[in-house]
Amino acid sequence: MVYETGNRTIDDALERVFDGETLDRTDGLALLAQPTDQLAAAGAAVRDHFGDGTVDACSIVNAKAGNCAEDCGFCAQSVHFDTGIDTYGFLGPEKILEAAKRAERDGAQRFGIVVAERGVSKEKRPEEWAEVIESIRRVREECDLEIDASLGILTEEEAAILAEEGIGHYNHNIETSPRYFPEIVGTHEFEDRVATLEVAKDAGMDLCAGVILGMGETPTDRVDAAIALQEIGVSSLPVNVLNPVAGTALGDSDCDESGYGDDTDAGDANTGADITTEEIVETVAVYRLLHPHARVRLTGGREVNLAPEEQHLPFEAGADGILTGDYLTTDGQSAGEDIEIVERAGLEPNREVNDFDPAAVKARGTDDDAPLETAAGTATSTADKTRESSRGSTDD
Ligand code: SF4
Repeated sequence: MVYETGNRTIDDALERVFDGETLDRTDGLALLAQPTDQLAAAGAAVRDHFGDGTVDACSIVNAKAGNCAEDCGFCAQSVHFDTGIDTYGFLGPEKILEAAKRAERDGAQRFGIVVAERGVSKEKRPEEWAEVIESIRRVREECDLEIDASLGILTEEEAAILAEEGIGHYNHNIETSPRYFPEIVGTHEFEDRVATLEVAKDAGMDLCAGVILGMGETPTDRVDAAIALQEIGVSSLPVNVLNPVAGTALGDSDCDESGYGDDTDAGDANTGADITTEEIVETVAVYRLLHPHARVRLTGGREVNLAPEEQHLPFEAGADGILTGDYLTTDGQSAGEDIEIVERAGLEPNREVNDFDPAAVKARGTDDDAPLETAAGTATSTADKTRESSRGSTDD
């Protein structure tokens, strides 16, 4: 036995994970019912056993913002919601490169080009497609970064081209469980998302696909989403926590009025996310055990739903990835603050691809973090209305 918590359910699961067994839905549900501290210890043990002791940072650019015809209930970029964000067409290679260089400077290892729409289409918009490809090439030539993409639905031909151009991860989040998905999205189905991921995988790209917690799903839905991701086969699993944006379906709902997603914090700002800090930590730990070889990556909404002194807790429960920098429609905290969170959990940033100096990033703070000239307008989250310092977003 590599590690024991003293909890029979957890220790049995740990032993099987260390033996190479894949845990199933029954295991996931049983684990989720165990004490938070023991689950977190187990998650950390699995990360330490299979991982390299680092936290991998990725960064994204919102390369085409708003006017998406889909109706995802959490998304500020849908035409179905009036959120007041700036909208713009594809930024083009120069702006994308500018964002990539900033990500490289800030210690990211991976850089993702994200567009807001059902799918970039080589056939319908060949000029835009050519710009996407040119952007990928420029970033690969000029930056020490792995490059990823999140371009919506893909044809087999498009997926083959992206793989050939060197896209590492293709991102397409499943958002939640198959059961709960129709409550959140009406214009496409869960199976459509899975189909795109399969096209990307068949073309040879690794998959980055994850969830948004706190949208009103049950704990069972959280496990079911992780099981669906097992079946799909992901190497990066983003865990967003809902940061409700005013004007969206979920931004105008009133899930939780307690603050920082924790019912014990009554009186704090209203974040709207229907999840507690303990549930976030437990879910991360269970995801770690269900996906021992994937990067479990803390992404949008963490700054809003976790108090500053809590942000390191998911990393103590086995998370080993982070989305640093700004999100799609809202600001993130500084890259230096993200590094400090990682270090508070006793971990160090990954520097395998981009050998940056963490001390220099921390020392710089936010002094020269002027927004990109073309950056997306910052959407107003429900939390923003009540807490000036709230940051973060839910990403797709
Ligand atoms: S989440 Fe993606 S597909 Fe859904 S509305 Fe937003 S940009 Fe469109």
